[in-house]
Amino acid sequence: MPYCPECNTEYKETVMHCSECDVDLLPGLVPSQGRGSVDWYVVHSVPNEVSGYILKSVLEDEGIEVFLRSNEIPAYGGLKGTLVKSEWGEILVPTYSVQRALECIKAYIDSLNQN
Ligand SMILES: [Zn+2]
Repeated sequence: MPYCPECNTEYKETVMHCSECDVDLLPGLVPSQGRGSVDWYVVHSVPNEVSGYILKSVLEDEGIEVFLRSNEIPAYGGLKGTLVKSEWGEILVPTYSVQRALECIKAYIDSLNQN
């Protein structure tokens, strides 16, 4: 969901601009208070846990800090059919690493496709 970097309000996907603050919205997540001042950005979604951890290690090998977020809700014991998203989870990196992370993911996927 896009959010406003000024007031941290989440908006619908179709909204591009916060009318309260008169600033453009950023894609991704509202930065959570528990993560300090680092803004996290979703760079990729993953279909399952295994590919999530593989991509995480690919990025960490490049010295990029990675947060792997699962869409599964443990309390529901894997009842994923009730969730809107079909992906297992998402790869997040700090906004200052987004460009490098995207390049690493692309290089990794390209190398897979060559096989
Ligand atoms: Zn705002």
